[in-house]
Amino acid sequence: MQLAARARNIGASPTLAMNARAKEMVQQGIDVLSFTVGEPDFDTPIHIAETGIEAIKDGFTRYTPAAGIPELKEAICTKLKRDNNLEYEPSDVVVSNGAKHSIYNALQALIEDGDEVIIPAPYWVSYTEMVKLNGGIPIVIPTMADNGFKLTPEQLEEKLTDRTKAIFINSPNNPTGAVYAKKELESLASILVPRGIVIIADEVYEKLLYDGAVFTSVASLGPDVKEHTVTINGVSKTYAMTGWRIGYAAAPRALARAMANIQSHATSSPNSIAQLAATAALTGDQAPVQKMLAEFARRRELMVTKINTIPGMSCRKPEGAFYVFADVADLFGRTIRGQQINNSTDLAELLLSEAHVALVPGAAFGLDEFIRFSYATSTDVIERGLARVKNVLAEAQ
Ligand SMILES: *Cc1c(COP(=O)(O)O)cnc(C)c1O
Repeated sequence: MQLAARARNIGASPTLAMNARAKEMVQQGIDVLSFTVGEPDFDTPIHIAETGIEAIKDGFTRYTPAAGIPELKEAICTKLKRDNNLEYEPSDVVVSNGAKHSIYNALQALIEDGDEVIIPAPYWVSYTEMVKLNGGIPIVIPTMADNGFKLTPEQLEEKLTDRTKAIFINSPNNPTGAVYAKKELESLASILVPRGIVIIADEVYEKLLYDGAVFTSVASLGPDVKEHTVTINGVSKTYAMTGWRIGYAAAPRALARAMANIQSHATSSPNSIAQLAATAALTGDQAPVQKMLAEFARRRELMVTKINTIPGMSCRKPEGAFYVFADVADLFGRTIRGQQINNSTDLAELLLSEAHVALVPGAAFGLDEFIRFSYATSTDVIERGLARVKNVLAEAQ
């Protein structure tokens, strides 16, 4: 059977591959400590979960309108106004099966064969593959730690062509935690908007901010920016609801309508029960979010401090999300237990086999000199896992 070129040209998620190897080792009885997790390790707050249970008991178990139920779309508009100073109407909002699905719908509605999409690296692993699946060409621009892993206007201008259709801006960023300041977003937008380039603003980590970092929603910069932006968000990261699969997009009306039409043929509506639970999440008590954030903040301190005591590794303090992106370039060319480390994948494989610690190599995010640690795990795992890493790396020759 001959598969379509689009299927042949994409790979499996490298984060999932590392996870699969770690799981195999666990099945063999090996005590693997994992820092690969891309989701909060907390339970969904109980008032949200109970809304889902009630929805089932009440028989709220049928198809809904393709773009989402009116009460959730209203709740999203209220949230965007309250938190992000954004004015959207329910018809500008499309609810999907996770923010990932919202991004996919946006690309389906926007990208023609050969269109270029700018992706600052390091990037979330699915951006490049989703662009390719839609016939687009990912134009990856590596950012630098010295710039806080943020794309500069100069870097952006160098890569623009008459085929540039869209750009991803992910702030706070996965994997670096970088948060773009309002001024930085304004400089980028002042280049993008006059050229009619669409900004795909992935804001799923907006609530996970540390040390007084301030989040600015791209579309809030002004009406002309808003006209060129599709705002992507969801409940997965903020409310520990990854398995419920609810994300949403807010976009200029014509784009929103196209995305809703595409979705109606691809998947019909998002899950009815999860939509009611998501409504409860957005409209209900926000205290659980602050509680989770406080715990993430403690773990972040611990992790950053420990990583910076490991010879050969260093990291900056991330401003947001729940990842640390550590520089490991000093270890390249060195040898541990007869294995030479030439890149981030070598290092991740070595740490898995020798330290029984699972990590995602920076190569998966488009920057090879780094490695990603997630701190969506217990302080016990952080302490024991980093001690193991330190011990094995002490043998580097
Ligand atoms: C987790 C994540 C998402 C989407 O999550 P969903 O569960 O699909 O809502 C989107 N972007 C980034 C950068 C993420 O890390």
